[in-house]
Amino acid sequence: MSDVFNFSAGPAKLPEAVMAQAQQEFVNWREGGTSVMEVSHRGADFIDIAAQAEQDLRDLLAIPNDYKVLFMHGGGRGQFAAVPLNLSAPADTSLHLVSGSWSKGAVTEAEKYNQARVIGEVGQQDGLAYMAPPAAEAIDQQAAYLHFCPNETVDGVAFDWLPDSGKVPLVADMSSTILSQPLDISRYGVLYAGAQKNIGPSGLSVVIVHESLLGKAQGITPSIFDYTLAADNDSMYNTPPTFSWYLAGLVFKWLKDLGGLSAMAQRNDTKARTLYSAIDNSGFYRNRIHPACRSKMNIPFQLADASLDSVFLKEAEAQGLKALKGHRSVGGMRASIYNAMPIEGVNALVSFMAEFERKYG
Ligand code: PMP
Repeated sequence: MSDVFNFSAGPAKLPEAVMAQAQQEFVNWREGGTSVMEVSHRGADFIDIAAQAEQDLRDLLAIPNDYKVLFMHGGGRGQFAAVPLNLSAPADTSLHLVSGSWSKGAVTEAEKYNQARVIGEVGQQDGLAYMAPPAAEAIDQQAAYLHFCPNETVDGVAFDWLPDSGKVPLVADMSSTILSQPLDISRYGVLYAGAQKNIGPSGLSVVIVHESLLGKAQGITPSIFDYTLAADNDSMYNTPPTFSWYLAGLVFKWLKDLGGLSAMAQRNDTKARTLYSAIDNSGFYRNRIHPACRSKMNIPFQLADASLDSVFLKEAEAQGLKALKGHRSVGGMRASIYNAMPIEGVNALVSFMAEFERKYG
């Protein structure tokens, strides 16, 4: 194992075993003398791994048969446009919860295509960031869908409740939390994720959509963003991001080999608990999120004395602890600890933090 631990928020660390396998197969995939990225997406070999990747994802998330799984282009933001284009008419209302910068970005994009309305925003409780569920009365039962982001990558705000939306379909941006724990897919209309955190390379987006929501795309929807066209063509209406799809397939196998999403949830709980206790048990570091809304994937923390930020980052980097700088809109530090981050990485970070505190605290 490398002695570098990469805490990047995305593109993020991928499992070392997956990277090693991809490297080994890179120029001679399936003993065919070519790379997987050099073969036709319509060939039997590629169709085979594409179908297997979908099946493995279905197994991992226990995706019911009346949901389509789509492998699309355009990352997370691509879906900020694809969702309103596919699920609503221009006059329709879309409802939004804004728990941080990504769910806010989804509103800005939806406003181009429908009547977007924010019905809940992150607030404060006991001086800490807190996201409360929306009141039932706020949910217009005529709305086309309710969009939310259960894990905000930049802000580190997460929540594990689902809005009680009646018959309004729930649409979740799961870019930074998908595959970190089991989910009840049947509660959602659409789930989507940009791949570059828990799935694979950036650019790919995975969309899981209930069949009843197909066939409603606005006429102006670009064909490559049309869920129905994608579903009818097994995500090969145009040339899909083949290498990313292949790599995602390797990640899904890796997850299955490790025991699936329950095992992953346990690992992720342990990692997050370890880091939050290190923060909470020190007077030197702090996290400003309410314990009920703390992300297990993206953990922002601040130093009591912000003038030490650059020293912290420099010394951490020298010890192989990389990409800990917080997003510019939040400041301080952020440790992203997705599935591929081993507990050893978190332990190394926690030891470094304790030593830094002894030295400068
Ligand atoms: N949603 C969330 C929650 C994200 O974290 C990100 C990227 N960090 C995006 C959407 C946008 O993804 P992309 O850059 O792939 O468009």
